Amino acid sequence: MLLKGKVAIITGASRGIGTEIAKTFIAQGATVAFTYICSDEIAQKLEGELTADGGTAKGFRSDASKMSDAELLIEEVLEEYGAIDIVVNNAGITNDTLLMRMSEEQWDSVINVNLKSCFNLTKSVLRTMLKARSGSIINISSVVGVQGNAGQANYAASKAGILGFTKSVALELGSRNIRSNAIAPGFIETDMTAKLDENTVQGWRDAIPLKRGGTPKDIANACVFLASDLSSYITGQTLNVCGGMITA
Ligand code: NAP
Repeated sequence: MLLKGKVAIITGASRGIGTEIAKTFIAQGATVAFTYICSDEIAQKLEGELTADGGTAKGFRSDASKMSDAELLIEEVLEEYGAIDIVVNNAGITNDTLLMRMSEEQWDSVINVNLKSCFNLTKSVLRTMLKARSGSIINISSVVGVQGNAGQANYAASKAGILGFTKSVALELGSRNIRSNAIAPGFIETDMTAKLDENTVQGWRDAIPLKRGGTPKDIANACVFLASDLSSYITGQTLNVCGGMITA
């Protein structure tokens, strides 16, 4: 029960990595507020699963790319649970194409959902965490943000931007005991990657030193570590969770 007594917000938890983070946090004793954008039905189903064994959780429809939604979310979560100890900025999208073909809309949407979202929610939760003189912010980046990737200039820029943002927040808020770290997942098998061609996917698995794609659980476990007091002396860092895909 590494997160007992802590309240966490997890963005984009209706699928994939976010869902697994929510389930793992509940198993570790956290109270979970999660966000989604598309389907109330899926969110309600997840809420049911998270609370089935006595856990405390609630879904909030909230567009991560909008500052007004982030401010409202913080208000509502504080009203419901009275505190916010952990924020996991997980919501993310891809909209891949070569730069030559990339529209302004493709650029803006990916930057807004992936990067501006981190600014929106972190800024909105600050007052609460400053008052508590405690907090852990975890931003989900990507190895693509560390290394770049052909066909993903928008996504790579958003994920690299997250790393700069994470380090700056750590430097600004360390003296108030607010920690800020990033996780850079490698190839994690979710809906986001299910759209890809199976041969390409197998090629990626073969090229990974640990010889498999990652699971959402691999990322969720890293989140538990960074959210919990086990990592109380760690801030401003990027944890690559990628089976050895990158070693820097
Ligand atoms: P996913 O299966 O596509 O799920 C994305 C989640 O984000 C969904 O819950 C979706 O909600 C939510 N979302 C999308 N736009 C949103 C918005 N504007 N506001 C709020 N929520 C929004 O993706 P995933 O693979 O779990 O990825 C999760 C995170 O890990 C992302 O940041 C991604 O970039 C990062 N990542 C993934 C991989 C990988 O290999 N899978 C690798 C590196 C990094 P709805 O269901 O309501 O649309």
